[in-house]
Amino acid sequence: MKNLLKEIPEVLLMGPGPSSVHPDTYQALASSTLGHMDGDFIRIMDAIKEMLQRLMNTGNKLTLPISGTGSAGMETSFVNLVERGDRVLILVNGVFGTRMTDVASRLGADVDTVEAEWGTPIDPEKVAQKLKSGNYKIVAVVHAETSTGVRNPVAEIGKLVQNTPSLYLVDGVTSLGGIPVKLDEWGVDAFYSGTQKCLSVPPGLAPVSFSDSALDALQSRKSKVPNWYLDLSMLTQYWEGKKRVYHHTAPINMLYALYQSLLLLEEEGTEAAFARHAHCHTRLAEGLSKLGLQMLVEEKYRLPMLNAVVVPEGVDEAGVRNRLRSEFKIEIGAGLGPLAGKVWRIGVMGHTAHEENIDYFLDSLKKCIA
Ligand SMILES: *Cc1c(COP(=O)(O)O)cnc(C)c1O
Repeated sequence: MKNLLKEIPEVLLMGPGPSSVHPDTYQALASSTLGHMDGDFIRIMDAIKEMLQRLMNTGNKLTLPISGTGSAGMETSFVNLVERGDRVLILVNGVFGTRMTDVASRLGADVDTVEAEWGTPIDPEKVAQKLKSGNYKIVAVVHAETSTGVRNPVAEIGKLVQNTPSLYLVDGVTSLGGIPVKLDEWGVDAFYSGTQKCLSVPPGLAPVSFSDSALDALQSRKSKVPNWYLDLSMLTQYWEGKKRVYHHTAPINMLYALYQSLLLLEEEGTEAAFARHAHCHTRLAEGLSKLGLQMLVEEKYRLPMLNAVVVPEGVDEAGVRNRLRSEFKIEIGAGLGPLAGKVWRIGVMGHTAHEENIDYFLDSLKKCIA
């Protein structure tokens, strides 16, 4: 039988994730697999925790990667904090805010929302109004809405939530590694991310962090966490302390890859990495404008790592994407939900965020829309 892996082309990943992977990270995946209770592996786990805490700007002891993609991080955050009947306020302006309402509802939460039109940010004024009228156990928002390319004002919203007893839950799947994330300064109580966006690790892990207040809420639950695999009170016994307790077999080699990618970030310097994303975003936006294309989001609300571009009248949206992939070996993303067929989503995430990739993409796109 022929081996299909031998036919995999090298594709430049410029969609909404996964992003292109650094060669050192691929190398890390090929390191020898250790046992999950091995002392040498536990040293790597500890280093991952410390590097994640630095990247998230937090002193949260409970900071660890969940075995699963970004959505497993979302599920972990809600399943550990929500009990049936709890009031949860979710700020929705895209696919991932909408997904949060689904996850929270399935757990029996009483979900309320503040919405904003897709392509625009959440208005903190509307959140302030809601917080006056009701008490919520959790207020949840997506930092970087990958479905639209909007950056939500998480610091501002955090200030509002800090004046209430609510826990503040933030989705940082696309933001972590590409723009600053400051959990302690913003008063974030529960945070989750994913590895295949700006961390440039293949999909499969979801870094999560809980504050002491979130941990208190977890420890004072009336009911057991209704999901065994994602129960943080059990997972911490494997991730913390002198004596480690087996929970599930950690995805060893994936964790090597996360370790390597975090090391690469620290070697480059996080500020330099953020500047690299910003620089590539500007170069891309300028190039697109020269091609006569328009961005969906107003400049001051744009994310550097996810660029939604309006498909011009008369251009075959899927045709361009298909040609980019087949002829130029570039993947970009399509629009989702109400934006399907209307935008392309161009990712400038992690190892993809290099000038030469931007230039190659712009050159290829020019040929496709000519
Ligand atoms: C990608 C993404 C997710 C989901 O992550 P998966 O790895 O696809 O499970 C959640 N939230 C945001 C903002 C994302 O961009």
